[in-house]
This record gives sequence, structure tokens and C-alpha cells, in this order.
Amino acid sequence: MRFSTFGTRFTRRSGILQLMDDLGRALSEGRPVNMLGGGNPAHIPAVEQVFADTLRQAADSGAALESLSNYSTPQGDARLIAALAAYFRSEYGWDIGGQNIALTNGSQNAFFYLFNLFGGRFDDGSDKSILLPLSPEYIGYADTHVDAPHFLSVPPRIEAAEYNGRSGFFKYRIDFAALESLPALHEGKIGAICCSRPTNPSGNVLTDGEMARLDALARTHGIPLIIDNAYGMPFPDIIHVPARLDWHGNIILCFSLSKTGLPGVRTGIVVAAPEVVAAIGSLNAVTNLAPTRFGAAVAAPLIESGTLQRLSAETIRPFYQKQADLAVSLLEKHFSDGLEGRLNIHRPEGAIFLWLWFPGLPVSAQTLYERLKARGTLVIPGEPFFIGFDTANYPHARECIRISIAQDGETLDKGIAAIAEEVRKAFAEA
Ligand code: PLP
Repeated sequence: MRFSTFGTRFTRRSGILQLMDDLGRALSEGRPVNMLGGGNPAHIPAVEQVFADTLRQAADSGAALESLSNYSTPQGDARLIAALAAYFRSEYGWDIGGQNIALTNGSQNAFFYLFNLFGGRFDDGSDKSILLPLSPEYIGYADTHVDAPHFLSVPPRIEAAEYNGRSGFFKYRIDFAALESLPALHEGKIGAICCSRPTNPSGNVLTDGEMARLDALARTHGIPLIIDNAYGMPFPDIIHVPARLDWHGNIILCFSLSKTGLPGVRTGIVVAAPEVVAAIGSLNAVTNLAPTRFGAAVAAPLIESGTLQRLSAETIRPFYQKQADLAVSLLEKHFSDGLEGRLNIHRPEGAIFLWLWFPGLPVSAQTLYERLKARGTLVIPGEPFFIGFDTANYPHARECIRISIAQDGETLDKGIAAIAEEVRKAFAEA
């Protein structure tokens, strides 16, 4: 069988396919795996109890059946859209209504739309890319363009940092000098700017100052700023440093129910100017008819009552803060006895990962990943996250891995012990 160019492109072994494949197999094969790969959120009993109760109530009241047995409009479930608009108006004071919100089948689906709406070939013959102001960025962006990848980025500035008064940490900063002088930006070859905040994979949170400067840069060049808020406020609110959430008509703000603990309902939320929302509705109609309503049946009552926002701030955020602290202390425990200085951790500021940098690692992070996988520990090698620039002369990209902190303490301990052992071996062999 022969596939089209589109088919060939979308069926090759992408980074995100490897990641989701590893995740699915680890969950289904039943063999012991220290699952520090993937992006599945944790199973937090108090959160799951609320979801189970809400599902039961939705079933009893008939609301669940109503959702399951009817399509929504292509824009998405009207009750959830109204609940979100009311909440954003009252909580953040945004001038927003139903015309500013569209739902998608997960936010991954939204990024596929947005990157193809603003990147690629245009009718006037121009060709535009999506500018990622700081790479490493979310691996799931990398293969979303229907023709060829259209991402541009610049390497980050790396600053030494402390965490809870301890050294051995670093923080990525946007290299604004490089970004603002990027020729493509001035030649009209950028269609949008996009960043995740908190960032997957590094757990970095771009500061309010950095966000304001990106906002200004986008407006100066007449292009939208896309903010991927999959881990941000008000849900799941996995953000441990002070940060403001802003929105106006030039910002496209993307939310997801996934990291609150509902990845299976595949519900993404796009808050944007009406013309972007209408475009998402059109794409939904062609590719999905309408987005799934099951997530909306659970989320709408929880947002109307403020339960999801409260659960995020009072349960989900503290849970991941504790997990980050636990993982950091396990890393410090296992990277001792001669491994001092071999590990640098990106300061945990949010999201559900730690980003580990092994300066001078004698093997590539891909090799480290393979060696760890062979012994039952799954991590994600760093290089595929460096989207949008050539990493050939950038060793840092091959010295980093991402680990999930969503697992229980024993899994984290065993997985981190394995990582330390393999890093020790790699340096010993060199
Ligand atoms: N954006 C970021 C930064 C993510 O980490 C993920 C998933 O891991 C997504 C978007 C897509 O998530 P979903 O499609 O489940 O909403």
C-alpha cells in the first residue's frame, strides 16, 4: 500500500509516537516498569473521588446521557463554554463571551489546528513558521504541520539557580537579544509565537516580565501569541511561583482538562478572538463534526461550582509540589558518592516533570534512554524537545532527559536509582 506525502509524514516514528507508545505499553503489558516517561497525570484519590461523584450525579440527573447522545455544535458543548466565559469574566475581568471560546478533542488537537492555521504556506505565496521563544519545548508540537515542520527557535540562556536555598539547579531564560533580532521575524516569516507556561519539559515558568515582552513582540509584528496553559492556572494550577494570567484579543490561550486528572476525556479549551474561535469550529466540523462532550459533562458542573478551581489550588498543586520536593531529594540521594556535579536540575517551578541535565555526559541522552528502557526504567531523552533549531553543535541537547514526577515514591526511588547507576557507568566507561 502506498501512502501520500501527508501519510508518509504522519506515519513515521515521531518523538510523540515513541512517547505515547512507551506510555501505553507500560500501562498495558503488566511487566514491572519504573514509568518516569510519558505525561500521564497522577491518580490523586481525593481528586478521583470528586470525578467519580460528579459522574454519578451526571448519570443520575440525565445530564451525562444528554451529553453522550447528542452532538454539540462544532464550537463545542454550550454549557461548558458558558461556564468558562462566566468564570473568566468574574475571576480575571476579561472581556469575554461564548464567541471567545472553542473546545477541541484535547489541547493536542488545538495545537494541530493552530500551528497549521498560522504556520505553513499562505495564499500570498509567503511561508511562515511558528516562533518558539524558548526551546526545549513540548515534544508534541514538533510533528504537527501538515507539510513540513515550520518551527523556529533560539537556544535559551542558562542561568545557575537555587531551589529551597540549595545549589545544583539552573533556569532557562529567553534570549531576547537573539529572539528580537531574528531575521525571520523582521522578514514577515513568523505566523505566531507560542510557548508553554509552565513549560513541558523543563518545569520552567516564564516570568511575567518575559511574558509581557513576548506579548509586545507579537503585537509589534502583528501576529498572535499562543500560550499553552496545560499546566497553568486556574486548573490544574501546577505552578509554584508567582505568575499572572493575562488575556486579550491578540492572545490565544489554550487550556486542557488532562492534567487535572482527566486525560481520557480529551478536552481542550481555546480562548481567543472570535475569528480564531470560528476557525477552530470550522476545523472541528471537518475533522470531528463536533468535539467530544463527555469531558464537558464532568467539567461544566465542577467549574460552575468552583470545585475544579478549588481542587486544583488546594489538592493538585500541593500534591505536585510535594512530588517535586521528593524527586529532588531522591536525586540528591542517588547522585552522591562520586556523582556530585554530574547532575544539574532545572528549578522545579511547575508542571509534572523534572528536567535533568548531565553536563559532559559521555553518551547521548538517547543512548541513556535505551539503556534505561532495557532495564525497565522509562524516561524521555531530551534532544527531540529542542524544536526549531539545529542541535548539531549544541551538546546540551544530548545531555538532558525528562522524568515524570507523577509516580509514587517507590517508583521514583527505583527509577532515579537506575538513572544514577547508568550515568555513573557512562562516566566510568569514558
Ligand atoms: N501541551 C502541553 C505542554 C502538554 O504537556 C500536553 C500533554 O502532555 C498537551 C499540550 C496536550 O495535552 P492534551 O491533548 O491531553 O490536552
